[in-house]
Amino acid sequence: MMPPYPISCYTRGCKNLAAYKIAALWSDGQTQELKTYGLCCQDCLENWFRHSRRKQHDCRLTVNETLEPPGIYALERGERDQQLRRLEDLEKSLGESAPQELGLRNA
Ligand SMILES: [Zn+2]
Repeated sequence: MMPPYPISCYTRGCKNLAAYKIAALWSDGQTQELKTYGLCCQDCLENWFRHSRRKQHDCRLTVNETLEPPGIYALERGERDQQLRRLEDLEKSLGESAPQELGLRNA
């Protein structure tokens, strides 16, 4: 459960309040939970999201464990994890296309 007070962005030196939560659904086949990678503000979102996606690839899992690619959730104060709204459009716009690929497509 998210604490009912404002949370700061996890980026060192950033003074903004966190507006997003980067998290991935983890399961061992019986229980599942949202594994949090970071909480961040709008400015830092792109970095955190890319960083989390890279980290997910490094994650070692046992046979029964599954871990979905990290997603972006709207951070609402006092909400339970299950109630967090997933922002899939934002994931798509930040996720798949690297800047150089966009450059190529426009050329
Ligand atoms: Zn920030």
